[in-house]
Amino acid sequence: MCVTLCRFIIPKRGMHMNTVTELFGSMVFNDSVMRARLPKDVFEQVQRSMHDGKRLDSNAATVVANAMKDWAIEKGVTHFTHWFQPMTGITAEKHDSFISPVDGGRVIMEFSGKELIQGEPDASSFPSGGLRATFEARGYTAWDPTSYAFIKDGVLYIPTAFCSYGGEALDKKTPLLRSMEAINREGMRVLRLFGNEKITSIKTTVGAEQEYFLIDQSVYAKRKDLMYTGRTLFGAKPPKGQELEDHYFGAIKPRVAAYMRELDQELWKLGVLAKTEHNEAAPGQHELAPIYTTTNIAADHNQLMMELMQRIARKHDMVCLLHEKPFAGVNGSGKHNNWSISTNTGVNLFEPGDTPSENAQFLLFLCAVIQAVDEYQDMLRMCVASAGNDHRLGANEAPPAVVSIFLGSELEAILRAIENDEPYGSREKELIKVGVHVLPKFPKDTTDRNRTSPFAFTGNKFEFRMLGAAQSISGPNVVLNTAVAESLRQYADFLEAAEDFEEALHDLIQNVIRKHKRIIFNGNGYDEGWAQEAEHRGLSNYPTTPDCSPCYLAEKNIQLFVRHKVYTETEIRARYEIKLSNYNKVLHIEALTMLDMIWKDILPAVSAYSKCLADAALSKKALSGEIHFHFEQDMAERISLLISSAVDKARALEAHMDHGESISDSLALARFHMDKIIPAMEELRKVVDELEGLSSSAFWPYPSYGEILFSVK
Ligand code: ADP
Ligand code: MG
Repeated sequence: MCVTLCRFIIPKRGMHMNTVTELFGSMVFNDSVMRARLPKDVFEQVQRSMHDGKRLDSNAATVVANAMKDWAIEKGVTHFTHWFQPMTGITAEKHDSFISPVDGGRVIMEFSGKELIQGEPDASSFPSGGLRATFEARGYTAWDPTSYAFIKDGVLYIPTAFCSYGGEALDKKTPLLRSMEAINREGMRVLRLFGNEKITSIKTTVGAEQEYFLIDQSVYAKRKDLMYTGRTLFGAKPPKGQELEDHYFGAIKPRVAAYMRELDQELWKLGVLAKTEHNEAAPGQHELAPIYTTTNIAADHNQLMMELMQRIARKHDMVCLLHEKPFAGVNGSGKHNNWSISTNTGVNLFEPGDTPSENAQFLLFLCAVIQAVDEYQDMLRMCVASAGNDHRLGANEAPPAVVSIFLGSELEAILRAIENDEPYGSREKELIKVGVHVLPKFPKDTTDRNRTSPFAFTGNKFEFRMLGAAQSISGPNVVLNTAVAESLRQYADFLEAAEDFEEALHDLIQNVIRKHKRIIFNGNGYDEGWAQEAEHRGLSNYPTTPDCSPCYLAEKNIQLFVRHKVYTETEIRARYEIKLSNYNKVLHIEALTMLDMIWKDILPAVSAYSKCLADAALSKKALSGEIHFHFEQDMAERISLLISSAVDKARALEAHMDHGESISDSLALARFHMDKIIPAMEELRKVVDELEGLSSSAFWPYPSYGEILFSVK
């Protein structure tokens, strides 16, 4: 992320220098608006509730609600909504106006503290994984005061958590907030042992880099597969793809630049720190990275970013594709979750320090991550599993499905020296005693260049690179926060009871390295040998969603989440069901779409083309009396063979789908999709792509890969 585009700096003619700074956050009910509009004591209460999780009393809530309403009305707002993130992975909202009737047939604009704090949307149509019986349709939304309210499309948006009547989380935000509480609780115990008196809380921070494709609306409208499934289900390879590597970081086309400019402005208004954009590896592929912020806000902002990316694309007659693999044979889109822990005093805990104590603290937090990633590698893999992401992981364009950590050679050598009580460093050849010695400096730059690692230490943060572009970032951060909280809990238990803190700390770090070093891998994750080596090390390798979904229910994972009050066992089981049911639905829709395309469009088109060829061959025969070897005859024969084959493959797919109807267990159905439906779809696609390669473009019913990928001129 090192391209800074000059259009942010050079103002357009007529735009004065302050435009961006004035624009930024102009639609957000942020600290400065609150400071200006709330009485001091209420403002302080809100701050406490934001930073320390203290509940706002109902009087204060009324004052805040009023101020919010007045501010919103001044900006032309008439409605408010509790904005939440159900387990569909996208956001949901229901708009209510501020109007309230008064005498004389008139209305006034009202918004109460109660309406701010709690809402009651009908929850019956959101996925609940069996958590909520349909007769108990009520769900509750609860204000998340740590994420600012904002105005979008003339509506006041209030970020909220969403739960059932019984208090079970029905969304992605609740567990994320709970996991942040867990890491705060356990992390603070550890920090106190190092004598950090000024630190009162810690928060994890995230910067989520988002990849996407832009294509022209006209080609999109002609592709049923893109419209129904977000990806192409057929498509012969274009003569030119990404092999010339001429798109990555290439000059941004004016149409795309105009889109990015508008996107930035809309995001800035909402307080999203959109920062860096560039072209990605594939034609039509781009990336947008924001500056990092607190994790739950980063999750909200990533949702807003995905929504606006799609909406603004439409305004520019384009479509933004967020699917993990819109085009076979072309790089797919991922999302990088840069993650760190920061204290309320502004210290990044993954920044190696200058003193022995700072170093020791850094090493202990580093160990907490190493242990967490090793012990919960299955959960990390599982939380990024989806039908879409299955196309990328392990396909040599994204990290492999095996989870490992890249630390960089210097840091790894330091850990090795500590592990083995060996000297480190060429000059002094010193033994490193944790808590006593200063760590040798290691250059930051060398830590970041292994792009094949799923989980890389990049100097002062970790970059988790397995997420798919369309996924919510909440899931992975819930796992990371909770798993690291668990390491920290164990360390705090051990160190609090220790007689000699420094001795105990040294032993602890040494033991963690010894026990969990198998997860550290600095080599090339795309190497074939790595899968074998990983197996040898006992690391798990789950290539697909059905393979890894059962990890959800492993006893150790249930224990982890229950212990830290992030999920109840019931909530975990619900999420497991939703994951599988989503996988099954996606595959079902894809298979149906393929069949629709083949029967209704592709076969009629190629059949018309082969008739045309046959007619041409016949008329030639009529003219010359005989056929020797004519293009038309040859083509008609080849196409007719392929048509028969396509019909067979389509019928085979239909037969499998019929069989699938009888499977009711969701895991069994997912395995069936993986073992039977996907191979049947692939076989059908192979024949159809061959047909496309032979058919006249005048007859082919869909825009080709080349036409789609290069549609934005
Ligand atoms: P690169 O080395 O790939 O250029 P950057 O250092 O620019 O990456 O950061 C990539 C992403 O990581 C950005 O979104 C950035 O804001 C985020 N990031 C940087 N520091 C932190 C941090 N301490 N916590 C979380 N994310 C961070
Ligand atoms: Mg990155």
